[in-house]
Amino acid sequence: MYRSHTCGELRASHINNEVTLSGWVQKSRDKGFIVWVDLRDRYGITQLVFDEERTPKAMMEMAQKLGREFVIQVTGTVIERASKNPNIQTGDIEILVSEMTILNEALLPPFTIEDKTDGGEDIRMKYRYLDIRRNPVKNSLIFRHKVTQEVRNYLSKEGFIEVETPYLIKSTPEGARDFVVPSRMNEGQFYALPQSPQTFKQLLMVGGMDKYFQIVKCFRDEDLRADRQPEFTQIDCEMAFVEQEDILNAFEGLTRHLLKEVNGVEVKEFPRMLYDDAMRLYGNDKPDIRFGMQFGELNEVAQHKDFEAFNNAELVVGIAVPGGNAYTRKEIDQLIDWVRRPQVGALGMVYSRCNDDGSYKSSVDKFYDQDDLAKWAEKTGAKAGDLVCVLSGDKNKVRAQLSALRMELAERLGLRNPNEFAPLWVMDFPLLEWDEDTERYHAMHHPFTSPKPGQLEMLETNPGDVKANAYDLVLNGNEIGGGSIRIHDKKTQALMFDYLGFTKEEAQAQFGFLMNAFEYGAPPHGGLAFGLDRLVAILGGQETIRDFIAFPKNNAGRDVMIDAPAPIDNKQLEELSLKLNLKS
Ligand code: ASP
Repeated sequence: MYRSHTCGELRASHINNEVTLSGWVQKSRDKGFIVWVDLRDRYGITQLVFDEERTPKAMMEMAQKLGREFVIQVTGTVIERASKNPNIQTGDIEILVSEMTILNEALLPPFTIEDKTDGGEDIRMKYRYLDIRRNPVKNSLIFRHKVTQEVRNYLSKEGFIEVETPYLIKSTPEGARDFVVPSRMNEGQFYALPQSPQTFKQLLMVGGMDKYFQIVKCFRDEDLRADRQPEFTQIDCEMAFVEQEDILNAFEGLTRHLLKEVNGVEVKEFPRMLYDDAMRLYGNDKPDIRFGMQFGELNEVAQHKDFEAFNNAELVVGIAVPGGNAYTRKEIDQLIDWVRRPQVGALGMVYSRCNDDGSYKSSVDKFYDQDDLAKWAEKTGAKAGDLVCVLSGDKNKVRAQLSALRMELAERLGLRNPNEFAPLWVMDFPLLEWDEDTERYHAMHHPFTSPKPGQLEMLETNPGDVKANAYDLVLNGNEIGGGSIRIHDKKTQALMFDYLGFTKEEAQAQFGFLMNAFEYGAPPHGGLAFGLDRLVAILGGQETIRDFIAFPKNNAGRDVMIDAPAPIDNKQLEELSLKLNLKS
């Protein structure tokens, strides 16, 4: 028996008990005549004591030689601690050790195993198993477990069945590149790893499973933007015989349950916003609505003066920064530099100060009088003491730029309170999205998404205006889930592929299995998937997902601990009938 108790368990009520504990040496303090050792496991820390008077000499020497992170087993008596430590749960007691075994020695760890460690991100990732011993990482993993348990509890209670779907499949178009796996037994052929279980969950609906969910890994070979992982986890869900409203209600329920059980927060409303409005008012399809600063479009009141930059712009749009008139000239210049950084990409920024006496002072006073500036203030909702920041240019670009500025300012102003939760459904996404690179339309969600009733014909005339039965769930400015009502008849699905530029043969080769299934009585169905990593991070009050993933990959998609990806040897290549043609 390695232990009778954990290192987080013993209290004053255990005094005089004989106990056995196992764990890691967190640290030891050696005063010569007395040695204290902090013994740690997942559950906590217990203080061990060895002293000259009561501890045999050999064991005293052994205690003095213990190094950090040694794995030991001790047996001893629980005694009352002379100086209690109210900061830890076992702080009333210590163990007077009578027996000790060193189960394993340890090299000196390359960083301190403390809440605040001296280890940088790279070294901690390389030794992630040591990092996991630290409370912040350990607690994040435990927190994730709690969230997934609650997901399973809730969905099971609601009649969802968890079904596993295969990982070795063929392409699912979720808009990213596939990871591919060569098949040894089928020379020259490849599996693709699922970008999501999309087609399988639809087939489960054809199969009559009615309500499906799965906590599942998805794989997308994308250029890694900050805080994305090439493999990530979804809570993937699908339901049959449902309309959009049924889905929204079902997953509003799940989200409420999680916020209540995990965070103790009761959310009153799940407001809904049309995609078009989200773009117009926040420049973003995942607006953070914990604070205002809505966009005010200024074309009407700012164009047709002599200011060419605005006259030539597709969109002139501003926001009011609360209290922003307090910014010094230098601070405003820094803001201008901030929006001009390549990551944001604005050409410049015009501003108007809203003075306390009701007058305005702008960077373009030459072109605009007080009446004009009063209209800017009105359109952006600026009050005395605020600062109106205005950007102009191509509509899509300028919205993205102003949205970036809005989020940055909100962060600086402390308006993004991690303990406040503001969910939002964004609805009626466009069905298609124009892709500059390929110069053609792509499915914005995926090609299985159904257009709004009666809009199918519009694909011929104005495809960009067709809206989809597609929705995203947004929490605090992050997309935490998204889904759609699906197409469930072969004719419409074939038409969709046709509009997306697939030839009949291509569509048949790639998605024939799904379209065939639709011919055998496919029920109307729809669903959504949550991004679990991000959801957990946000519920945990953070925005970096890596902390909540046991073994994450770095920004270059590498696992630096196991050193993957790595070359394979020639024999393996031969078996797979593969030859490399490396570019570098
Ligand atoms: N498969 C979709 C995704 O991964 C979610 C859905 O439509 O249910 O985004």
